[in-house]
Order: sequence, then structure tokens, then C-alpha cells
Amino acid sequence: MSAWLAVLVHTPAHAAMGPVLTYRHRQVLPAGTLVRVPLGARETLGVIWEPAHDEASGEFDPDKVRDISEVLDTVLPLANAWQQLVRFAARYYQRSAGEVALAALPPQLRELSSLQLQRKALRLQKALGLQATAGEPANAKRPSPVVLDAGQAQAQVLSAEQTEVLAQITTQSGPFLLFGATGSGKTEVYLQAVEQLLAHEPQAQALVMVPEINLTPQLEARFVERFAPQWGPQAVVSLHSGMTPAQRLSAWLAAHQGGARIVLGTRMAVFASMPGLRLIVVDEEHDPSYKSGEGARYSARDLAVYRGRLEGAKVVLGSATPSLESWFHSRPPSEGGRYLRLHMPSRIGAAGRSLPLVRRVDMTHQPRHAVFSLPLLEAMKERIARGEQCLVFLNRRGYAPVLHCSDCGWKSACGHCSAFRVFHKTDRTLRCHHCGHSERVPRTCPGCGNLDILTLGRGTEQIEELLTTLLADVRRTGSQSAEQPEGQAVRIGRIDADTTRLKGTLQSQLAAVHAGEVDVLVGTQMIAKGHDFRRITLVAAINPDSALFSSDFRAPERLFSLLLQAAGRAGRDAAMGAHSEVWIQTFQPAHPVYAALKNYDYPSFAQSQLQEREQAGMPPFSYQALVRADARSQEAAQAFLNLARQRASSDMGQWPGWAQVLEQVMLYPAVPMSMQRVANVERAQMLVESASRHALQSFLAAWQDVLHGSRSDPACKGLIRWAIDVDPLAI
Ligand code: ADP
Ligand code: ZN
Ligand code: ZN
Repeated sequence: MSAWLAVLVHTPAHAAMGPVLTYRHRQVLPAGTLVRVPLGARETLGVIWEPAHDEASGEFDPDKVRDISEVLDTVLPLANAWQQLVRFAARYYQRSAGEVALAALPPQLRELSSLQLQRKALRLQKALGLQATAGEPANAKRPSPVVLDAGQAQAQVLSAEQTEVLAQITTQSGPFLLFGATGSGKTEVYLQAVEQLLAHEPQAQALVMVPEINLTPQLEARFVERFAPQWGPQAVVSLHSGMTPAQRLSAWLAAHQGGARIVLGTRMAVFASMPGLRLIVVDEEHDPSYKSGEGARYSARDLAVYRGRLEGAKVVLGSATPSLESWFHSRPPSEGGRYLRLHMPSRIGAAGRSLPLVRRVDMTHQPRHAVFSLPLLEAMKERIARGEQCLVFLNRRGYAPVLHCSDCGWKSACGHCSAFRVFHKTDRTLRCHHCGHSERVPRTCPGCGNLDILTLGRGTEQIEELLTTLLADVRRTGSQSAEQPEGQAVRIGRIDADTTRLKGTLQSQLAAVHAGEVDVLVGTQMIAKGHDFRRITLVAAINPDSALFSSDFRAPERLFSLLLQAAGRAGRDAAMGAHSEVWIQTFQPAHPVYAALKNYDYPSFAQSQLQEREQAGMPPFSYQALVRADARSQEAAQAFLNLARQRASSDMGQWPGWAQVLEQVMLYPAVPMSMQRVANVERAQMLVESASRHALQSFLAAWQDVLHGSRSDPACKGLIRWAIDVDPLAI
């Protein structure tokens, strides 16, 4: 007697066979069971899938069916809800369920045998059991590299706003949008919501997501401090791509077996298998990093909301600058809102910690080519002299974005991309930030031999250098401690992708800032987000205007949230917060983005943006998908897209109901992407838009076959790949 089992595997993208294959085994296995199966010449990980395959259906040829090689029965089957989440994500984002499922499982599961897994699981269980029975002392937890404020280790007495918000989260079903100023104590609310949950439900688990790996150590430290004493050090695990495969597997197993009560992670954690999931927190929910940029281009925030509903878990989305989508969803229920909006406008410790004063410097009144306006420079000098820290924010790394020759007009274009190579002075290279191509800086102009090659524009390296000169005569008088003796020269630090390439360097650089070893911190958006700097009292955005001219309709929203996040880095310490400031250097001081920022008025900014979006029929008032095509030539990329577009109306007429679907969907002609060429690959895209999410989904699902079919058309010769991006964030 043998059973025919449907097994979900990761088949090559767009292969003729579907992702669910039939295998034979001596007995039926429950859906969700992990197995290893032969696939072609190799062996691969698979998941028993539903519905089961039936010989009578004629879907497979019993003589050709192969045997399951191994059942990984030391790992509990994946729950129904998890399978459902995968099915939904695959369908919604137009990818195969096999790809989504296998990408969501820890990579090491693919390699270890059942026996090795068993050992690993036993070790985990032992660790958990030990701590439950013998009461392992709480200080046996892993050493934390992060220094916490004393106050963060214990539960705080909540402010009135926090109390009210927590009560709402406890008594209502959500989903919630927690709209709270930076420093209003959102994290404390998450912590206490988790605390209540764990106290009341012995099996309950909570998932807390943050947008970036960089932010996990500090958050992890806070959660471990808070929960390890009672629940043991194993109760908190992290899941993100910065972990080793072994660490990821352990954390995943701990969550899957229920031992880990709290999972902290980046977007991938939304797929963590958590049988007791009761609460999902998505912190900084507006952050674009929640959207995956490859494979299934899913939004972890949107999936979190879906998953919460599916599993009956509460979902809390938190932000000081919510995405316009979430803001719109949290309008009053009477107007159709589906999320409950909760508001915490005040910073903790109100009196001393009001939000920093926003000052706009009109650069049209400053000397031409000035990088730092005089008043900003004066303000910085004053702060430094007093022993306070400044943060200078510029979203461009390297020394200069372009080199050029004024004699012949040569520019440092990348030969492989439609972009300029950036001049990095530290190692004297010209580097393309898109394809990575790097070369030594030429001594003379490659065009005409001119010795005098000039830089255009400025990056963080140059700002660091410039500040060293501009602040050379400043001496610190106000001293904080013995380690910071008075009368010393200004210390300038820089944090960006270049200074943090090596593992651990970001943490040590942040630690130096926290320890007061830096007076001025120069950096990219990497430092604008989340970090809890205590002594920074002045934040300066020296050249934020470029985002105002972007063709992307989301650019103003992005700029507003980035600047407000950056502003949130200032004045986080009660004693210093009172006089903290944010400086914006701009040629358009009256621009609505800056005006709203000045008043910290996100609601009216959001309202005006939403009005514009509604008039233009943009999301969240419409739904979008992008089809991107990569090819050897721009013609081939566009030909493929335009062919599929044309076939949507010409070849698909036989589909029942197709006319109605097509009527509701708008297909735009193919256009080159704004970064048209990367690493010698030409890129084009086509926008698909509809006022109905349902119509868009039906269209895409049916249109997939046409896209597959168009690939082989002679006109599309040179096409390399194509992909659908549902709810794209950048257009
Ligand atoms: P957010 O996440 O909104 O930026 P946090 O939760 O990080 O804010 O809180 C900001 C600071 O205020 C943290 O140092 C935190 O420990 C502290 N804090 C939060 N809530 C309270 C409270 N109720 N009483 C005292 N301090 C608090
Ligand atoms: Zn030249
Ligand atoms: Zn390049």
C-alpha cells in the first residue's frame, strides 16, 4: 500500500510544471509536514500540501511518481494558517507558492538531515526545559552589546496617553494604527502590550517587526532586559538576514515549537511559523524596507494585517509618519476606515522634551555655493562648545557624485549603467553605486588629458572633510565627563554604507556616538532612523531639496517622513531636549513639505497629499502593479511588454468575463525605467492600474500566461527576465 502525496517544492520560476508535484510514500502524511524529495537530479526540501493528490484525477502518471526520500518528522508540521498565508501571498503577489514557501523557511532546513535536526531540536528543548525547571538565573543571558538606559530595563509607569492607547489595544480588536510622535513612548506601549499578553496566555506568542537589521540590536536588548528575568533568555529570538544560517534555524525552530514567546525581526519574520501568534507589531510601518525588492515582492506590513485577521492576532502598526495608505485606512469608521487610529502626540516627559524647533534657512540669501549657511554653522559651533552633539544629514555617500572636465565636458559616467560613478576620495576610486564597478581615479581627463578634473556636488565624505576645516578653531568648553576633557578639537564621525561595510562596525560607531566620543555625526539616512541618541541637540539636513523634484509621486511623503525621523533624533534626553533644533537648508522655504514639518503637522500634510492623490487617481485611491522587463536591448524589453499588453485585448477574448475585467483595468505603454540601464542590462516597465483591487488581481492572474507566452516571440529576443510587482512603492 502506498499513498500519493502532493508536495510543494520550489520549481524554477515560470517552469512548465507547477510547484505542487506528486510523490509516493508508504503512508499518508499530514499537510504541513516537511519532507525531502528528489527533483530532477538533485534532492530538495518540500512541504506536504493540500489538497492531496488523487490517482483517479489523472493528474499524474503513477508509474513515473518517485518516492519521498526522507520525512523530517522531528519538526512539527507547519500549521494550516501558515500554509494559508503562503497561498495568499503567492496568489496576491503573482508568484508560485513553492517559491514563497521555501523562501520563507530557514535555508539550513534544506541541508540538515532528519537526525541532525532532531539533535538541534533536542538541544533547544533542553535549554528551554532547564530554564523552566531549574530556574536558570536571568543573568545567564547572552551578553548584550547595547548599553541601555536604566529606565528601559523595567516597565515604566505609563503616561496618560500611553495608558489610554494600551487600554484600547487590550479591549478592541484592531487592526490599530498607533500614530505617535518620535519619543512618545511607542516602544514602551509595545513592550507592555506583549507583557500583558504573555502574562494572560501561557502559549501566546508575539511578533515584533522593525524595518532594518540595524535597529534590531537595540530593540532586542530592550526586550531581553524586560522579558528574560521572567521568561528566560530563550523567550526572545530574532529573525533577520544578518544572522548565520545556524542562528536562523535555531531561532526559527524556537518560534515554530512555541518556546520563543517573542520573535523580533525584519520583513522576513512575517512568515515565521508561530503556532501561538496573538500579537503582531509593525514598528515604523511606513518604512519602504517592509516591501521586498526581489522574488515575491511582498509587503510585510500588508501581510501582517492579513495574517492577523487570518489567525485572530491583534495587529499594531506604529509610526510618527504613517504611510498614506495606513493613514487612509484609519480614517473614521463612518467614512469607511478599517483600522483604529490611536494617537500619542506628546513626547515622554513633556516639559523638557517638546519636539525640536524646526528652522528653515533660505539658501537663496546665502553666498552662492555655500554648503553650510552661516547661521547654521554658528549654531553648530555653539552647541559643540557646550559639549552637545550635532547630526548632519545628507542622503548621498562618497565624496562627490560626479567628476567632470570643464575643458572637454567629460563626466565620470559608468560604462555599464545610466548613472555616474561616484568619486570616493578615501581610496581614490570612482565607484558605480548601481553595478559596483570600481576604478582608480584617473590622473588626467580621459577625454582630453586635462590635469584639472573637477568635482560636482557633494557627498558625506566631502562634508566630513569640509567640517574639519570649518570647525577647526572650535574648542569644547562645556565638559560632560572626565573622558571628554575641555579645550579639545572637534571630533567628527561619519556613518554611511561605506564606513559600516564590515560586520560590527556600525555597532561600534554607534557606541562611540552614545559614549560622547563624537561631536558631529555626518551620515546618510542610515542614522536618521530609529536610533536613540541621547546627546544630539541639533539635526541639520543640508540639502534635502532634490527629493522635491522627483518624478515619483511618493517622493514628498518619503521626504517628510525621513526629515521627521531625522528630527526625532534630536533632543531625546530630557535635560537637553528643551532647546534642541532641526535645521533645514532649502531654496524653497515655503514648500508645503517644509511648512508642515515646521509645525509637525503630519495630519494636514497627509490630508493635502491624499487630496492630490484622489484627484490624480493614485493609490490609495487606485491599485497598481508594475511589470518590469530586463533585456539586452531597450527595444526588446519594451517589445515584450507591449506585446503582452496588446495580447491582453486581442488574445484573451475567450476568457469568460474578460471584457468586464479589461474595462476596469488600464494598461499604460511600456517606458524605460528611470534607471534605464544597470550593469549592461536594459530595463523597461509597464504600469497596470485599476480602481478595483479585485479587477486588478483577476487581470494579473489571467494575464500571467500571456506574459509567459510572449517571452518566446521573436520580437522579444534578448529578453532576460520579467517580474510583476504588485503595489509597487517606486514608479
Ligand atoms: P518611541 O518608540 O515612540 O520613539 P520610546 O518608547 O523609545 O519612544 O520612548 C522614548 C524614551 O522614553 C525611551 O527612553 C523610553 O525608555 C522612555 N519612556 C517611554 N515611556 C516612558 C514612561 N512611561 N515613563 C518614563 N520613560 C518612558
Ligand atoms: Zn577633458
Ligand atoms: Zn554601473
